[in-house]
Amino acid sequence: MGKDFDPDKIASALSTLDVHDYGDVLQCMRCGLCLPTCPTYRTDGVETQSPRGRVALIKAVIDGKMKASEEFIEHIYHCLDCRNCQTVCPAGVKAGELALEARYRIEQNRSQPLIKRFLLNYAILDQKRLAKLLAPLKIYQISGLQALVRKYDILKLISEDLRFMEALSPKLPSRPLSEQIPEEIPAIGHERGRVGFFLGCAMNLIFAETSKATVDNLTRSGFRVIVPKEVQCCGTPNIAEGERKTYREMAENTIRIFADRRVDYVVTDCAACGSELKAYHDIFHKNPNFASKAEEFSKKVRDVSEFLDSVWSPDIKLGRVPEIVCFHDPCHLRHGQKLISPQRNLLKRIPDLDYRELPDEGQCCGSAGIYNITHRDRSMKILQSKLEAIGKTQAQTVVSSNPGCLMQLAYGSRRFGKGWDVIHISEILNRSLRAADKAS
Ligand code: SF4
Ligand code: SF4
Repeated sequence: MGKDFDPDKIASALSTLDVHDYGDVLQCMRCGLCLPTCPTYRTDGVETQSPRGRVALIKAVIDGKMKASEEFIEHIYHCLDCRNCQTVCPAGVKAGELALEARYRIEQNRSQPLIKRFLLNYAILDQKRLAKLLAPLKIYQISGLQALVRKYDILKLISEDLRFMEALSPKLPSRPLSEQIPEEIPAIGHERGRVGFFLGCAMNLIFAETSKATVDNLTRSGFRVIVPKEVQCCGTPNIAEGERKTYREMAENTIRIFADRRVDYVVTDCAACGSELKAYHDIFHKNPNFASKAEEFSKKVRDVSEFLDSVWSPDIKLGRVPEIVCFHDPCHLRHGQKLISPQRNLLKRIPDLDYRELPDEGQCCGSAGIYNITHRDRSMKILQSKLEAIGKTQAQTVVSSNPGCLMQLAYGSRRFGKGWDVIHISEILNRSLRAADKAS
């Protein structure tokens, strides 16, 4: 993060929060209902690390009672944007989204480091560029160097940060999904419609096999799948870091790409992408030339669980998956998209699957984009609570549907020797569909 900034300019930019957002600030009744739901308040136990505290800090700067200092900015970046607080707030205060709005106004008024500009304004525009950035990790993994480094814990002697990032890194696929499948894949059996599949960066480049299962589930459900290869990032990293110019360009591009393909739905298997794609209409609502296109696009977006739960008939053939399973709700699914039932409905339909509810009411896992790297200590405390909740279910298989959550939970399972199979919901559904094939 850049250090050169003028606190007065930031305060003045914060006071331009539009009436809707500023109304949110004013509406806080200070009831405290949000406190126990907030992961940072739960770990730190101090008011400034609570949704109520963050709202009060922003209001104090707007009202000129406090300077927009380095410390204030840090507080704004402590929020994980999990939006758990937004689900419970009786006054409709959106503390998580307010923190993102504040970041945007802060970043517009301070210098941006070169690395941040390179990543958010250049690399992110093209998934092939992102793939090149991952190439050293791939060489490290396939050369056998990773096995050696892990066996002798070599990075412990060099850097604790590097050691942590190395331990977090997932195994990369041989090729991104975009290089493995054609742009159009016909439905299996009677065609029920055209689905556009959004190739999210992390899913395409890291979880290619998972997204292959997603596409297979869609075609098996009777849908022709269109996979535009030229899509860019959904923009979640840009929004999280207060960048909006490149974000808007990428969003406009995505809306045009799917409009050209004339699809009935746009399906994604990344909860963060889904939450962002559904929000495009909010970003463009003041643009008379683009608002209706953005709204039409966002209305077509579906998370993969939401979509399959709505289109699977009662007689769809599912095979046995005799495992004890729990589902970790990605925050962008449960709080961002308000989707709780579809993923549970689907899992409970699988024969012999023993579904266990996590006893933590949708708490964050601490991943939150790059939060586990930028705020490692707190992220690990949050993860620890999640691991305890999973342990109580006695599940062998932990299912989720967001790449960041999958990496964080898989890290937790490896690091603490839990031996859990951490997988995406598309994979367990695909196992069941294929098991039915074998049985018939
Ligand atoms: S729940 Fe809402 S109204 Fe109550 S303190 Fe939290 S943000 Fe304010
Ligand atoms: S979005 Fe999450 S981390 Fe941020 S204030 Fe709300 S509950 Fe806390």
